Amino acid sequence: MRLALFGPPGAGKGTQAKRLARAHGLTHLSTGDLFRAAIRDQTPLGRQVEDLLQAGSLVPDDVTNDIVADRLAALGHGGFVLDGFPRTVAQAEWLLAYLAQADAPLDAVVSLQVPEEDLVQRLSRRRTDPETDAIYHLDFNPPPGDVPADRLVHRPDDQPDAIRHRLGVYHGETAPVEATLRAHTRYFEVDGTGSLDQVQERIEQAVATERGLTGI
Ligand code: AMP
Repeated sequence: MRLALFGPPGAGKGTQAKRLARAHGLTHLSTGDLFRAAIRDQTPLGRQVEDLLQAGSLVPDDVTNDIVADRLAALGHGGFVLDGFPRTVAQAEWLLAYLAQADAPLDAVVSLQVPEEDLVQRLSRRRTDPETDAIYHLDFNPPPGDVPADRLVHRPDDQPDAIRHRLGVYHGETAPVEATLRAHTRYFEVDGTGSLDQVQERIEQAVATERGLTGI
């Protein structure tokens, strides 16, 4: 299964991608995670993209496409779930062409639908655990008691100014990708509100119904 999760920041792409990857043996491919790891390790890529991530701006398409190409090539024929890519029409066109030429097209794109006011609330209360990469929400998905509170990170781009900027970038540059994806892939809208289990089930049902399978 080759799947991409689509939607605004805070829609739950990362959380659901991790769950789907674990449940179905897929590789989770998050461009945001790859950039954050590069920044943490202070690689040349990390130094190049650090200010962009901090501000909530997009990394240039050629840089982003290159790291995705590297990862996809390393996967061979394995299944994957893309999270946070593609985010521009140019990235989507590149990805569709790349996968077509590899004879490995996307099976489905799932767009997570969450009202805008919920997104801001989710992002400002989001915390991540750099040791396990787990994503928490302080109210709705709180970290377990054995995770030390001082280990949790409030991402710099989850601060109010950067959140507003990221939502603007989403509406300006990422939302138009929907038309490209709809034209070339099986594209499903899934309600992204409710419990983590409910959302995962909706995604699995949407994809499975289309494929005529009982699971992903
Ligand atoms: P995310 O973890 O998906 O919210 O991504 C965090 C940040 O990484 C974004 O705000 C961008 O700065 C950068 N980023 C992630 N994915 C992409 C992408 N597909 N294109 C450009 N920049 C990206």
